[in-house]
Amino acid sequence: MIEQTLSIIKPDAVERNLENNIKSFFEKNGLKILKSKKVKISKEEASEFYKVHQTKPFYNDLCNYLSSGPIVVMILEGENSISQNRKLMGATDPSKAIEGTLRKMYGISIDKNSVHGSDSAENAKIEIDFYFK
Ligand code: UDP
Ligand code: MG
Repeated sequence: MIEQTLSIIKPDAVERNLENNIKSFFEKNGLKILKSKKVKISKEEASEFYKVHQTKPFYNDLCNYLSSGPIVVMILEGENSISQNRKLMGATDPSKAIEGTLRKMYGISIDKNSVHGSDSAENAKIEIDFYFK
């Protein structure tokens, strides 16, 4: 099924000028970039975006981090794009991500793991609306 998902290039990767590498990696792997913009969000916006994690011990640091510098938000479209993007990203912890995944290639640590991707159809819709509505 052709579907859409939300991808974010996080501050650590934008800072290292990895935007073009990451975009061409998606395109080479069957995901089309329908929309893309570079933005800097506030702590309040990051807290809203990540509110599913509000009870987690890492929530505050996570929200500070996502709002710490420019990010690139994208709508990716393709066959099973939600799971395909998750596969291309690799495990949340870069030290556990398999060879050939974005987080293995570029992730620095579990908190600076370079990319975000929606984890379900429901969240993809919510997250796309969050940045593009
Ligand atoms: N995170 C963290 N410490 C943890 C777990 C997660 O800093 O112990 C951060 C990490 O940047 C991750 C984000 O919180 O990407 C959201 O966590 P989630 O479990 O949803 O991982 P993801 O869906 O990004 O793989
Ligand atoms: Mg997640």
